[in-house]
Amino acid sequence: MPFPPTSPGPDLNHIGGEWRAAADGATDDVLEPATGKVIGAVPSSGAADVDAAVTAAQGAYGEWSAMTPRARSERLGALARLIEENIDEISAIESRNVGKPVSIMEFELDLALDNWRWFSSAGRFLEGKAAGEYIEGYTSMTRREPLGVVGSIAPWNYPFGMATWKVGPALAVGNTVVLKPSEMTPYSALKLAELAAEALPPGVLNVVCGQGSTAGAALVEHPGVAMVSITGSVTAGQAVARAAATTLKRVHLELGGKAPVIVFDDADVAAVAENVRTGAFFNSGQDCTAACRIVAGPKVHDDLVAALTEQVSQIPVGDPNDPDTEMGPVVSATQRQRVAGMVDRAKAAGAAVVLGGQARDGDGYFYDPTIVVGPEQGSEIIQKEVFGPVVTVQRAPDEETAVAWANDVDYGLAASVWTRDVGRAMRVAKAIHFGTVWVNDHLPIGSEMPHGGFKQSGYGKDMSMYAVEAYTEVKHVMIKLGD
Ligand code: NAD
Repeated sequence: MPFPPTSPGPDLNHIGGEWRAAADGATDDVLEPATGKVIGAVPSSGAADVDAAVTAAQGAYGEWSAMTPRARSERLGALARLIEENIDEISAIESRNVGKPVSIMEFELDLALDNWRWFSSAGRFLEGKAAGEYIEGYTSMTRREPLGVVGSIAPWNYPFGMATWKVGPALAVGNTVVLKPSEMTPYSALKLAELAAEALPPGVLNVVCGQGSTAGAALVEHPGVAMVSITGSVTAGQAVARAAATTLKRVHLELGGKAPVIVFDDADVAAVAENVRTGAFFNSGQDCTAACRIVAGPKVHDDLVAALTEQVSQIPVGDPNDPDTEMGPVVSATQRQRVAGMVDRAKAAGAAVVLGGQARDGDGYFYDPTIVVGPEQGSEIIQKEVFGPVVTVQRAPDEETAVAWANDVDYGLAASVWTRDVGRAMRVAKAIHFGTVWVNDHLPIGSEMPHGGFKQSGYGKDMSMYAVEAYTEVKHVMIKLGD
């Protein structure tokens, strides 16, 4: 199927198995970041559309939640196979809509496909923790039960991948879902809805497009939604948590990050530089775990800046469709302004921009890969998420300072520690408050392991059985045995 706007395919909401425009006919334009051109329009949904989707999800819940884990697994397995068969089209959609180079799509979608395969059977491994006679004359058991309708809200940086992390575990255990993709990147979620329609009963997965402040807010406020799971910024997470409090919904928050890369003097400098080239600039740095904040030992600092500058200066930036391109644009004009503003302010405050530091002329939202050396710990560029192709390097005099600086941010999503000293690696991994700590690497993730934040990076885990369990609630059933 050709990609929008020529396609009559997925550019409408998918509710209860049907494609539908917004009730009031409103639409939002969707842009192509590499050119800045409008490539289509999708519904700008409101409360009525969200209500229709929640009603459809409620209607499907009885049948879906009553299925055996095996029966649900067979259907989700069929969806995983459809995703595999359509992977090239999903890749093309995502590349065009987010500005991702085709060269990174294989890695990204390989993970998403593996996630679907893994989630498809994960519901079969749920277990109650105990069953037995804990009070004389009674048998107790614990059951893990689905919650009902889950509202899933996805960001624009990995639209298909993040939708997968939200929707997969929720469906696996018997919930039905209303997914709201980012208003900027709705197309791969709509493609997912199209594929899901072939594998799942109508209403099990519904996709409603629209703005966060309208469609997103309506989903969070809807009394028929039992749980909201959002991946997005801290600000959006706070708004969701506040709004969810009214109906006391369960909330699952995967928010921003500011990952420290702690490099000790005994680290392999070439390996760090090579890794940060990918870890910080993959997806134009628009990654919540991006290796964006290097804290380097005093002896290794200068060599690392030199090695990193050499590596990063070689990153081919340009047309996402060119297979040699390693980095494309950032997602929007607003995002580029945000990145540029933070780099300019860091420079004005005395940090050295040793590479990049400017937007590219011409169409699209390109910004050069940038290295900023020596910002103060309290400065904006250290404390706030840039979410662009920018890495900072700070010189820490000793281990204690490196650990203190690493922890001295509001975020706590991911971090890495680089050293040949196993004892120090273990000591520092324990001392830093981040949901994932890599040792001598940064970025690899797999379906079986949890991903999620501490502090203002949110709470709740994606992937792994922790995510699957998060979409259930525990029930105690107690039976009087009689004589
Ligand atoms: P965003 O917060 O602007 O939007 C995320 C989603 O939330 C969108 O669908 C948006 O429409 C919706 N939304 C916004 N306000 C809302 C509200 N009040 N109520 C309901 N929904 C609302 O984030 P973004 O710019 O799309 O994504 C980038 C952010 O996501 C970054 O901060 C990044 O670190 C974070 N992120 C985190 C993870 C993780 O696993 N922790 C993964 C990817 C991205």
